[in-house]
Amino acid sequence: MLTFGTNGIRGKLDELTPEFAASISCAFGEFAHGRIIVGMDTRTSSEMLKNAVVSGLLSAGCDVVDVGVVPSPTIEFLVLRMRADGGIIVTASHNPPEWNALKFVDRNGVDISRERGAEIEKILRRGLRRAKWNEIRNVERYGSAMQDHAEAIEKNVDADKIRSKKLRIALDCGNGTTSLIAPMLMRRLGMEIVTLNCQPDGFFPGRNSEPTEANIKDLVEFVRSSEFDFGVAWDGDGDRVVFVDEKGRYVIGDKVFALCVGHKLGKDRGKVVTTVATSNVVKSVCEEFGCELVYTRVGAPYLAEKMLEIGAVIGGEEVGGVIWPEISLGKDGLMTAAKIAEMACDKPLSELVEGLPKYYNFKTKVECSHAQKEHVMKALAERFQGENVITIDGVRINFGEEWVIIRPSGTENYIRVFAEARTAGKAEKICREYEKIVREEVCG
Ligand code: MG
Repeated sequence: MLTFGTNGIRGKLDELTPEFAASISCAFGEFAHGRIIVGMDTRTSSEMLKNAVVSGLLSAGCDVVDVGVVPSPTIEFLVLRMRADGGIIVTASHNPPEWNALKFVDRNGVDISRERGAEIEKILRRGLRRAKWNEIRNVERYGSAMQDHAEAIEKNVDADKIRSKKLRIALDCGNGTTSLIAPMLMRRLGMEIVTLNCQPDGFFPGRNSEPTEANIKDLVEFVRSSEFDFGVAWDGDGDRVVFVDEKGRYVIGDKVFALCVGHKLGKDRGKVVTTVATSNVVKSVCEEFGCELVYTRVGAPYLAEKMLEIGAVIGGEEVGGVIWPEISLGKDGLMTAAKIAEMACDKPLSELVEGLPKYYNFKTKVECSHAQKEHVMKALAERFQGENVITIDGVRINFGEEWVIIRPSGTENYIRVFAEARTAGKAEKICREYEKIVREEVCG
């Protein structure tokens, strides 16, 4: 049986069947109770799975609000806005088109992690309790989800300032769900837009749906070929976003996050949450404002749980996902794009990026069998102890401005080593040193 991963249940259609989707949704219905918001991405299998999800929820006695094809952050926003009891999103985010997944959201708008998902699996194993014929509730179709979300974003940025600047931007929605909201939102903010891959299409004909530098080379070329203030590209479900500056240079996720942190703390000081895999560029920005940076395990649900617990003002991860609690506790690539537009009114994006401290990284991996991984990681955690060591997810060792993290791959037979330093040579040196240590442990 499929089980919860870091964020939801992912699979190809031979495993993620409509029967399974209906059963696990019925179990979630018992876990969450009440009124559940359901939405989906543009994949060919999403409508089929969404209907199964709706059936499962109805069979558990839940009320369902069906919002159709929308970005994931729109649902996380709407769960809070509508004071619903939870949400289910049918989306495999940035994965290839043959994949799909179910992402579950609790009443606080927090994604359900692997650990909390185990409770839902337990309900499923124990046997489902179906509603009686006279306990079955209704499906409400709600068509204004994206308008509501766009309005909330507009209220939380300096919309007048952005409008007066008349920015010209290039959008690459990768045929995903942002195709439906991003052009509308950017126009509402008075920007002139030129679009690329902004037709929803479950085959992702325009590009691979993960917005890596290699995958968005068309956008990079496009921005270089004309006058734009910046280019922006989302993943399939719109929680992650990356940018291309006005000179046509790719802006990596942790720099985007660092810019957002600086912008936020400049107006509203407070705690910041990120994962142990995030660059020290974020730590530097927090130190500049005298604000605390709290680390979590890698994965959006852990970020959101921690942000809720400590009342953080912003959170984010290294791959270009930023959480804005004024909107929701889900990573919101649309709010992030609107915020970057707000920042680009003052300075070109390239100058904003150049203003950040520079760090270099180096990564490598050591082959290690799945069976051996746990033992090796335990040995490393015992070997490295002290105030500068974080062991909440792998082993991260901080040496002032430099650091290294050793983490087992979740799906492959490797242990990964990643180091960051102020020079490229130093990053490689640290990485090689720890690669050697990991190799020693693997060889026993
Ligand atoms: Mg995503």
